[in-house]
Amino acid sequence: MNKPRILIVEDEEKIARLLEIELTSEGYETEKVYDGMEGFAIFQKEKWDLILLDVMLPGLSGIELLRRIRSTELNIPVILLTAKDSVEDKVAGLDLGANDYITKPFQIEELLARIRAALRLNLQQAPSVKDFNWLEFSDLKLSEDTREVYRGEDLIELTPREFDLLAFLLKNARHVLNREQLLNGVWGYDYFGDTNVVDVYIRYLRNKLDKPYDRALIHTVRGIGYVLKDEQ
Ligand code: CA
Repeated sequence: MNKPRILIVEDEEKIARLLEIELTSEGYETEKVYDGMEGFAIFQKEKWDLILLDVMLPGLSGIELLRRIRSTELNIPVILLTAKDSVEDKVAGLDLGANDYITKPFQIEELLARIRAALRLNLQQAPSVKDFNWLEFSDLKLSEDTREVYRGEDLIELTPREFDLLAFLLKNARHVLNREQLLNGVWGYDYFGDTNVVDVYIRYLRNKLDKPYDRALIHTVRGIGYVLKDEQ
């Protein structure tokens, strides 16, 4: 099996070098660049399995680079390296479809765990050859094979994470799920971020899935969590 290829876009040379050494010793193949424009060029030129992306970069910001990456590649896992307390960057990054983020300074073991999780999840999402199965609830229809979601006749565009969250809600329709269950089910047991990410993504889903329609399917259960149900 080929070694997974990880692109490191980080302008702090010391950190980039450390990442390169650690990732190489873990069996990954890596390349490091120090500038956002260079990062975009090499992203386009070569095939990558995962991108480690610093947010504060010269040339092109990490957020702008992520936007460009997602405009052509929806599935490649991207993990953001963010400065401490830059909540806006994290939200903007997740909004643009970053799979995860890690706050600097970070423990290398934690980063390695997140890389493994992101690569594993991406593998699970690889196209399947079996017939497409549709999960249905109310006027909602979702296929994990084609990764398409319909509400009625409308095709709903979701980011990979939004899709996973909806799939989990759908498989557990009418069951009230707390944040921890959602976090474990969607982000995985080795996700170390804070649980607010669940609320953030529920909001994204509602904006796309419920807001344009007269009947809401995602309901808040006060003090507990969320449930997918159809209340006529
Ligand atoms: Ca930087």
